Amino acid sequence: MTTTHFTTRFAPSPTGYIHVGNLRTALFNYLIAAKSGGEFILRIDDTDPERSKEEYVDAIKEDLTWLGLKWDRIQRQSERLERYAAAADKLREIGRFYECFETPVELDLKRKKQLNMGKPPVYDRAALALSEAEKDELRKTRQGYWRFKLDHTRIEWTDGIIGDVSIDAASLSDPVLIRADGQVLYTLASVVDDTDMGVSHVVRGADHVTNTATQIQIMQALGFQTPEFAHHSLLTGPQGEALSKRLGTLALRDLRERGVEPMALLSMMARLGSSDPIEVFGTLKDVAEGFEIDHFGAHPTKFDVEDLFPLTAKYLHTLDVSDVAADIAALGVPDELAEQFWEVTRENITTRADLGAWWGLFSQGVAPVIAPEDAEFVEQAMALLPEGPLDGGTWKAWTTEVKAATGRKGRGLFMPLRKALTGMDHGPDMSAILPLLQVIKARG
Ligand code: GLU
Repeated sequence: MTTTHFTTRFAPSPTGYIHVGNLRTALFNYLIAAKSGGEFILRIDDTDPERSKEEYVDAIKEDLTWLGLKWDRIQRQSERLERYAAAADKLREIGRFYECFETPVELDLKRKKQLNMGKPPVYDRAALALSEAEKDELRKTRQGYWRFKLDHTRIEWTDGIIGDVSIDAASLSDPVLIRADGQVLYTLASVVDDTDMGVSHVVRGADHVTNTATQIQIMQALGFQTPEFAHHSLLTGPQGEALSKRLGTLALRDLRERGVEPMALLSMMARLGSSDPIEVFGTLKDVAEGFEIDHFGAHPTKFDVEDLFPLTAKYLHTLDVSDVAADIAALGVPDELAEQFWEVTRENITTRADLGAWWGLFSQGVAPVIAPEDAEFVEQAMALLPEGPLDGGTWKAWTTEVKAATGRKGRGLFMPLRKALTGMDHGPDMSAILPLLQVIKARG
């Protein structure tokens, strides 16, 4: 049996922190490569020297590492500029690249005129009609920039998510591939990279569909093979509202800060918007096994950040004490209590940070909550608390004695004691809590 190893890439621009929207792209690409035993490339799209920042490159690596999305290699576009220049030369040679001189203001004016006349705002190719003498004249005052000349045919591909796509190239402007300042733009750089790096599957957001159409033609013009394409839908807020403005608050580092567990986030993102139910996976390998890109729908996908917290809690419940040993030790929980502490708290936490609150309660105690009508009862009960080490049987023995002494029973007996000892009217089993209450142990 032959297995095909797929090569994918995640290609963020280091111009900001990556957020849940980027994560979908990163994860899908990672899973396709992982599932096929292929290669996952982290490609840093840093051709824009002004907007690209080294601190964001570091942050992207840090965020992916936090999630366990390990890349097999890293590539930087800023180190590959000659490759793009060579491709540009080739396009010039074959007559598919032409120099333009319109300023942004002039282009804007053209667009407005077209729209006024009810026409689509597609670049009119006026620069194609310039003579060499006219261009020389223009070059005296302006820097030229370069557009790829699209073939006015239909561009078609079968998208891994959207299905059959057919776009009339005549409805698109010839894309600018080199700016007036000489900067190579992403559209060209990406095509060269995807080919040089042997990328077999390009998965990215639906906002790139038009890019794909033009990139397919550029690839064909350069004699490159086109990869498979899949465009996942964009995320919206819970009410279907655009998320673009809020994405700044949905940076992965903010979610990390809020205690979201990587596996909760990955489990959700690997299923949200697909026909498969969301379940909490223990490892990325498990996530990859059931991942099918064609199970995803093309419609915008609703995302509610709050849903990550129940999933985080659910994931934490599955952990063994050894998985959280470092967190527990960091709180100062004595080793011999670690297991007991975890058993008592695991189902009563939403994030790991909640462990701290529990240990605070056990080690420092809380302000007891005692209703006036229970004050005497609680005092009486506390006096009956057995001397010596508290264990799993203490609660039962103690409350039996309290019951006999006070005549109280059921809720009227247990609840005032729970509230006096934990400050809450709910929580883990009192017989499990009692042995952990260092405050009581310390009472001498
Ligand atoms: N740097 C591009 C972006 O972040 C990459 C798009 C692609 O995957 O080709 O949108």
